[in-house]
Amino acid sequence: MDNPQEAQAPGPNLLDLDLTDCEALVAALGFKTFHGRNLFKWIHKHGVIDYDAMTDVPKRLRAALADHALLRLPRIIHSRPSADGTLKWVMELDDGQRIETVYIPEEGRSTLCVSSQVGCALDCAFCATARQGFNRNLRVGEIVGQVWHATRQLGVAPSNVVMMGMGEPLANFEAVVKAMAVMQDDLAYNLSKFRVTLSTSGIVPNIYRLREVSDVALAVSLHAPNNALRDQLVPINRKYPLEELLPACRAYLAGDQRRKITWEYVMLDGINDSLQHAKQLIRLLEGTPSKLNLIPFNPFPDSGFKTTPPAQLEAFRQRLMGSGLLVFTRKTRGDEIAAACGQLVGRVEDRTRRGERPVTVGLPTLPPPGGEPPRCHAR
Ligand code: SAH
Repeated sequence: MDNPQEAQAPGPNLLDLDLTDCEALVAALGFKTFHGRNLFKWIHKHGVIDYDAMTDVPKRLRAALADHALLRLPRIIHSRPSADGTLKWVMELDDGQRIETVYIPEEGRSTLCVSSQVGCALDCAFCATARQGFNRNLRVGEIVGQVWHATRQLGVAPSNVVMMGMGEPLANFEAVVKAMAVMQDDLAYNLSKFRVTLSTSGIVPNIYRLREVSDVALAVSLHAPNNALRDQLVPINRKYPLEELLPACRAYLAGDQRRKITWEYVMLDGINDSLQHAKQLIRLLEGTPSKLNLIPFNPFPDSGFKTTPPAQLEAFRQRLMGSGLLVFTRKTRGDEIAAACGQLVGRVEDRTRRGERPVTVGLPTLPPPGGEPPRCHAR
């Protein structure tokens, strides 16, 4: 059994429920569904998890909930502030696994970086989470619980949520979709579709599925402009190569002129940062409404990579912008508390035994930068 909670639970954890589920539960207990709305609102909008404080919920229903449901959240174990205002919370789950959540305040907005899995199974070459291995998917309540805690701790809901913490959100599809719906619900955190972003390394079938059930913004971890290099850096590319990924992304936008794919591109010195790579990137993204985020590589012990020097990064950026692409360089935030992209590790009891495999420093064999980019963009 994945979660010990399931063994002892007298009923569902209310944190795992969306509005419809809450209404259904209340109806099943013999009460009017609008009490389900109130219950949902108490938990998420008001941050109340003590039944006694839910004054407009009938006493008999409160008693029934106490008997037939749970109200469980992850526990905050540490809270680490960084000099630049970034805050990292380490949260412990019922089975002792730990995840990390990062809050990044900026001028006029604040972003919460939320985890979707304990560890990650995808093994991207430059990511610290990948080195931890993988334990399990997070449940809805463990994902929403991160937003719940941040909102309580800060006194206000973050203005943006990005599913960019530990894990691959599209590998935990149902729970992530439901959790994002709770984030968007106006009785809960009321975030618009522009303010919830799912980031994926490119699980193509689930990009198509996502389009059917959600309208959140989509970010894709690209990191390489051709299959040969991306196969090495982001191994899921061997299964879903660029010529499948790009059409899926365009389909996700489905002709909505206002929307773009945000491409994340980690800048690795001497690996993916030449002007030749920039040229390939321009060709690759032609015809796809795009915004490109260049992310300076955040180091971690034994990563085997270095970040691109600032002058080279700027030359790369200029080359891309010269073609009309929208390009931003992401500021590194929270790196001294290991809260930056790719530095989140939590405490993961690895089930993949990745930790026992030898660490390859850098890339074993680098494809030449001159490789042909796949011809997959719409003209
Ligand atoms: N699995 C999802 C969600 C993780 S998002 C995905 O791949 O999109 C975290 C982002 O940070 C991804 O773009 C990831 O590739 C990037 N990243 C990972 N390690 C990094 C590092 N050491 N430095 C900078 N960015 C990194």
